[in-house]
Parts: sequence; structure tokens; C-alpha cells
Amino acid sequence: MAQAAADASVTYEPATFPYRWLLDEATFKTWEEVEPWYRSLLARNIDSPADLESWLNDLGELNGAVSQEGVERYVAMTCQTDDPEREAKHLAFVRDIEPKLKPIQDQIRGKYLDSPHRQGLPAERYRVFDRAQENRRALYREANIARETELAELDQQYQKIVGAMTVHFQGVERTPSQMAPFLEETDRALRQSAWEPVAARRLVDRDALDELFDRMITLRQAIAHEAGFPSFTEYAYRLRERFDYGVAEATAFQDAIAKVVVPLARQIQEDRRAALGVDALRPWDLAVDPLGRAPLRPFAEVDKLAAGSEAIFRDVDPDLGAQFAYMRQNGLLDLANRKGKAPGGYQTTLEADRLPFIFMNAVGVDGDVRTMLHEGGHAFHALASRGEPLSAYRDSPIEFCEVASMAMELLGARNLSLFYTDADADRSYRQLLEGIVTILPWIATVDAFQHWVYKYPAHSRAERRDAWTALLDRFGGNVDWSGHEDARASGWHRQLHIFLYPFYYIEYGIAQLGALQVWLTSLTDKAEAVNRYRQALSIGGARPLPELFEAAGAKFAFDEASLQPLMDAIGRELAKLPL
Ligand SMILES: [Zn+2]
Repeated sequence: MAQAAADASVTYEPATFPYRWLLDEATFKTWEEVEPWYRSLLARNIDSPADLESWLNDLGELNGAVSQEGVERYVAMTCQTDDPEREAKHLAFVRDIEPKLKPIQDQIRGKYLDSPHRQGLPAERYRVFDRAQENRRALYREANIARETELAELDQQYQKIVGAMTVHFQGVERTPSQMAPFLEETDRALRQSAWEPVAARRLVDRDALDELFDRMITLRQAIAHEAGFPSFTEYAYRLRERFDYGVAEATAFQDAIAKVVVPLARQIQEDRRAALGVDALRPWDLAVDPLGRAPLRPFAEVDKLAAGSEAIFRDVDPDLGAQFAYMRQNGLLDLANRKGKAPGGYQTTLEADRLPFIFMNAVGVDGDVRTMLHEGGHAFHALASRGEPLSAYRDSPIEFCEVASMAMELLGARNLSLFYTDADADRSYRQLLEGIVTILPWIATVDAFQHWVYKYPAHSRAERRDAWTALLDRFGGNVDWSGHEDARASGWHRQLHIFLYPFYYIEYGIAQLGALQVWLTSLTDKAEAVNRYRQALSIGGARPLPELFEAAGAKFAFDEASLQPLMDAIGRELAKLPL
């Protein structure tokens, strides 16, 4: 890390973006404060392409200001969920402002799309924007708003059912995530005794979750039919703005994963089984260190996490390190786990200020370092594209957003000396690479399952369980589930995306391939890999996906020919590392 210390002199001072149209004293706390601004945009005369462009920029400013109001309330709520006032403010935004925004934004979109002056805008510059606007208008149906609200309430029920799951273990009531550390314990009987009650507890709500999902399928079918689509699958592809791939490509990706990745994943499990010295891997044998070492503990205090991460980022690129230092110094990080904080981690953007914010629940485990690098990648993406005047282009398609974050996990993975001894750094690196190999078959399973669900929406619950089980047989590992077949057959209940964000999962797989290509370049030419990475991030969402990948030095493809060399490279790296 000597190089990192030398680069600490690089600093970052972000440009500011004062309002050009909104009044500085304007606030956006109620619908009454928000609506007149949108009405004013709707009423404005647009007499030239220049007027139209100026109108778009004013719209972006307004959208950004309203979005930031919502984001600030969300951040405040997640940072302290047990404060009823914060919860009420967040819910007021979700209930009173968001539903009213939808129809007025549809009118705004119509005004743009129907403007004769669109012809005078530079076509290539607006191609991606126009495509998205036309698609949104084509999908929008006033009659679906009530169905979407009903779905949002079912989402909430899913969160509530899952959030209420606890087990009593060693005399203490614990959530499933609080049970996870026991699965890293070297005592196998202890692991089993921790795993089984969680599996049993999940099965208690099996019927409730199946019932909830049945209702979601019915609503989603109705939404798709309302919008003129024969099935929810086609509607969901359009809704997710999948302009550059379709069901055929997704299916080819599943096939490629089965052929190229599943054998490597099974080999990793076989090596684990042999190292553990057991006859068969059981579901509670997957998180423990195979050689019986204590779990990795990279830090005790979050200050060390932040300082260590800053050093890693400075080593990847001094400018990125300086950007992270700015975030540290300006209250744009909330990293420590504490009572009352919402679970998980995320990066969000304060759109009016054009600044990122990172939320985490760090407790001192290896995964926290990875999450920090991941969310850091998202934050650098937001900072790289903040100068883009068209607000829609400051956002990228999710398939590329996750390249920004996943590539950073890989670029930073060999600079962990502030957290680990060399031997432990190797362990962490091995866990990262093995995690990539094992997540891809899971992504294929989740994706193939959802294609099946919406292709046969009239299926019975028994058929659904059979379909899931068949996919696990195809993509899963060599784990012996005997005695726990029911838990295996309902394992998809744990995957929140299937309930809340239908079809949203393959994106992680597509992005992972982009990230691996950036990483592969970095193994031989780190400067080139990082330069192209930063260049691609600065484009935001102004270009279509294949061009964003290309800018990062990656091919937008997820077939067997693209997957094979990446898995070969991971295999070579793993072969160099001790177990
Ligand atoms: Zn991410």
C-alpha cells in the first residue's frame, strides 16, 4: 500500500449545480408544492428545438429536486426505522406524492413525444432517451395504477412475513440473518442444529407465501393484458427496457451456464467436501471454512473499514480514492450496523446535488469489505456522470450499473493488506472468485424459474414446486438434501426478487460477465482496464448497453463462447491460490 499513501495528496472537490429554473427557496415537501412546477412545464410554449432542450433540462431539474426529497426521507427512515416520525414522512411521500406523479409525468412525456421540435434535436444524441420515452408511453395505462398499488401492498406483505421470521436458538430469539454466523462455525453438529430450525421456520409460512405469489401472478397477468401483451413475460421485458436482448438470449445464457459454469461450481463443492473430510455435503456445510480456520474478521471498527477502503480505492486510481475521501468527509456514508437500522446495503443518489450516498450494515465480516467496494463502484458511477445535462442520462441501465460495482469488487480484491495478512487476503480472494462461480448457476435457476412461471401462469403449486426442483437438479450442486426435500422445493421463497421485482435477476449475471472482462484486462494491464472503466462510467446512460460495455473494454454477450474464457481465467486464478 506504499503507492496508496503517496497518492493521498490527490483531492476531489465536486462542481455544484445551482438551480437554473427552480427558485432557490422552493421546497417540495407536499403535492401542493410540487404540482405547480409540473403544471408550469405542461403549459409552457415550446417554439424551437432550443426551447425543447431547455424545457427538458428544467424538467430534469424538477425531477431531481422531487427525487431528492423522496430519497432523503428514505435514507432517514432506513437509518433509523424505529423513529415513527421518519417512517411517517417516508410513507407520506410514497402515498401522497408518488401516485400523483405518475399521471402528470405521463402527460409531460406526451408533450415531449408529440412536440414537432423533436425533429430538430440531434437524433443520435436523443436516440436512447426517445426510445425509453416511447416505450414508457406505450406501456402506460391509467387502469393499471390501481393494480400496481395493490401489488405494492402485496410486496409489503412479503416483507412483513419474511421480516417476522425468528427462531429461538441457545435461549435467544434470532432472525435468519442473525443465525447465519453459526453456519461458519467449525462444529458440524452445531451448524446443523442452527440450520434446521431456520428451514423449519420458513416452512411454517410456505402456504402463505405461495398464496401471496399466486395473487401476484394474477395481477401481473392482468397488467400485461391491459397493456396489450399476450403474457407477462413480454410485458416485463419491455418494462425493464430490455432493448438489446430477449427471451432467446436469456435462454442461451441459461444453457451456457449449465454447460460451462455448473461443472466448475460442482468441482468447487467437491473440493470443499474432500477438504472437510465428509461423505456428502449437507446444506449446513457451505459457509464454514473447509480447512477449519476461524472466519475472516477484517476490522472491528467501521473507521477502519472506511480508511482501508479509501486506501484500496486510491490504489486502484488516485482520483477514485479522493472521491471516496470526499464522501467520508461530507456525511455521505452510513456504514455501521446498529439497532433500529434497516437491513442490507445500498447506494443511492441525491439527484439535486448529484451526490451519492452509501448505506451499509457493517459488522466486521469479509463480506462487508466486498459490499463496501461494490457500493463504492456505484458511487463512482454517479460521480462520473454527474456533469451530464440530461438527467435521464445520469442513470445507466442496471446491467451496466452492476458492471461498475462488480468490477470494483474485483479490481480492489488484491489490495487487502490493510485488512488481512497475505494468507487471509488469499482466502478472501478465493471466496470472491468462488462466489462468482456459484452465483451464476443460482442466477440461471432464478431466471429459468420465472420464465416457466409466467409461461404457464395457470400452474398448480405442486407443479411449481416440481419445476423449481427440476431446475435445482439441472443447475444445483452436489449437496445432499435428504430429509429436507420440502425446504429444497420451496427454496425460491427466500429470493425476494421473484416476489418484488419479477424477472429482475439475470441483470446480475450479464453484469458479472462485463465485470469479469474488465478484471481479465486488469490482470495484464491494470492502467488500461481502469482507464476504460472510468471512461465507460462517465457515459452514464447516454448510449445503448452494447456501447457501454464496449467502452469498458468488454463485449456485450452472454453465450457459451463469452463465458468459457472467463471461467477458464477464474479456474487459473483459483489454481494459484491455496485452499
Ligand atoms: Zn449493486
